Amino acid sequence: MRFYDFESARVKRFLKQHRARRAAIQLPAGLREHLREIVEPFAKMGVETLVLADSCYGACDLADEKAKQLGGDVLVHYGHADMGVSACLPTLYIEARMSVDPRGVVERVLPELKFKRVGLLTTVQHIAHLQDVAKLLRSSGIKPFIGRPGPRAKYPGQLLGCDFGCARSVAARVDGFLYIGTGEFHPLGAALATGKQVLAVNPISEGFKMLSPDIGAFLRARKAMVARATAGERFGIIVSTKPGQARFKLAEKIFKDLKRAGKVAHVLAVDEVRPEELGDFGFDGFICAACPRMPIDDAERFERPILTPFEARVMLGKAKFEPYRMDEVNRKEF
Ligand code: SF4
Repeated sequence: MRFYDFESARVKRFLKQHRARRAAIQLPAGLREHLREIVEPFAKMGVETLVLADSCYGACDLADEKAKQLGGDVLVHYGHADMGVSACLPTLYIEARMSVDPRGVVERVLPELKFKRVGLLTTVQHIAHLQDVAKLLRSSGIKPFIGRPGPRAKYPGQLLGCDFGCARSVAARVDGFLYIGTGEFHPLGAALATGKQVLAVNPISEGFKMLSPDIGAFLRARKAMVARATAGERFGIIVSTKPGQARFKLAEKIFKDLKRAGKVAHVLAVDEVRPEELGDFGFDGFICAACPRMPIDDAERFERPILTPFEARVMLGKAKFEPYRMDEVNRKEF
């Protein structure tokens, strides 16, 4: 059985529809080992492939410009759902949904699930199984809730690291969440954004973990980061040139706020945010208007404090630290 659905019939239809001769393929690290299977429909259609081998973290990172520059006439982007980033050439999203049925492991962990009303969360790879899991929970006397998608997500119940909308939309009605997927990146974010516990179930390893982040410790660490930054005079506002991370309007607003407060500010446009290179500019601190996870997950990689846009407002006395707001992306910021 194939692990992922690479939708070869859909790929062929797309290639035919656009009379593609050279197709650029973009895929995240986790799918690279499946390249042999991925290129099959292209080879069958006699279409030349160009694999864009740079890092790819999300649909925010669409390489349409690069594909065009290299002579591609279409782009096929694997592993993520379309989040509405506009593209300069025909683009097909293949979400690479996983065939593995999570119900077996969910059934086994039910005794660990102390919630009577539970919000269901997942990534696009497992989205097709969410209704089946909801049915299983109902048959066990648990009331499931699947939240509506936020501004960047495509499906109900779909989490992104920069969009916890589906979790927030049902948070007030549930005791906690059940997350189906791999890794802790998404469920931890949901726990921090809602203040609720998340039971994370991994359908691949069949392991599970209750994630109840120490919100108090998190807030203390973020407050200390803001305090460290407050003494700074020179700030770099980081914007990524990745089309779904290029929050230039937001950066402009932060720039004006910093200037009004008498600080020196520069907007730094980079593709890949590498702390070691940004350190060369001699800034006292950074504000991140690129991927919202960076100041939270990568703070330790930076020698200087790195704040979210909300924390920058706190530093400038324009917002109160509590209630704390996780940074999430919305369309007005571009
Ligand atoms: S969390 Fe960051 S990498 Fe992931 S989709 Fe959002 S902006 Fe992109």
